[in-house]
Amino acid sequence: MLRVVVLGAAAGGGIPQWNCGCPVCQAARNEYPELQSTQASIAISADGEHWFLVNASPDLRQQLIATPQLHPKPGALRHSPIAGVILTNGEIDAVAGLLSMREGSPFAIYAHPKVLAILQSNSIFNVLNEKIVARVAIEIDRVFELALPDGQPSGIEVEAFTVPGKGAWYLEGKAHPGGSDGAGDTLGLRIRDKKTNRHFYFIAACAHVSAELKSRLAGAPLLFFDGTVWRDDELVAAGLGTKTGQSMGHIAMSGTSGAIKSLAGLDIDRKVFLHINNSNPALLHGSEERSMAENAGWQIPADGTEIVL
Ligand SMILES: [Zn+2]
Repeated sequence: MLRVVVLGAAAGGGIPQWNCGCPVCQAARNEYPELQSTQASIAISADGEHWFLVNASPDLRQQLIATPQLHPKPGALRHSPIAGVILTNGEIDAVAGLLSMREGSPFAIYAHPKVLAILQSNSIFNVLNEKIVARVAIEIDRVFELALPDGQPSGIEVEAFTVPGKGAWYLEGKAHPGGSDGAGDTLGLRIRDKKTNRHFYFIAACAHVSAELKSRLAGAPLLFFDGTVWRDDELVAAGLGTKTGQSMGHIAMSGTSGAIKSLAGLDIDRKVFLHINNSNPALLHGSEERSMAENAGWQIPADGTEIVL
């Protein structure tokens, strides 16, 4: 069986964001601490013993403390159940947590060559010695099996595919160390337990839902999907910023071409939003937006939510 733990559900900045006084951040700081959420990442395991992270958020240290499954095994002086980290993009909120994994434990980093090139070109990531922390290039549309630190198969198969998206923000207008080809900047993942043949999809960033993506996701037992903004211009409308969801490579939850409408009627058993920005009113319990999302069958998870497939 496949176990999935939502380590964090929030978009970049988390909830509350350090410099934000929007209604959600204020509520999370004060009367509703249960709204607090760390930046998006999940942990997966097929055997309950070895775990893989999908993305390593800047909040990783806090997430590991809060997740007993990821603690060192009792009696071991140095140990981590984390066998690898799969990166779906090169954004700060997906890669910065790697720097908190620098104390010499072996694991593997799986990422598209474009994202590996970003790590390679930033010397701070040299703190993860490649002799101990192997870099494994992900090939798009090719199924591969995650490996345990001793090289044994993990029982978890991954297939990465491209989804409409954007390159990392901090590279906007700059030469990409991995080349100018747009493919590979934003990946979706299909993750399958070989033993049970159960699978799920992880798509934490997606600019729009294409017909191809719809047919891929139809009938899926579980989907984690980009829930960054409720409406495309919400950051602008709230006076929080100048960027729209689309300009950041993120689809809105609502609207005729939003995620809720686009992914309706596809017979997906369980739909979970992830990477939810603190500006998103669907975070607020009792809000109209929350009801609309939930009535359409979507879940907005709390950090620590565990799903067994
Ligand atoms: Zn805020």
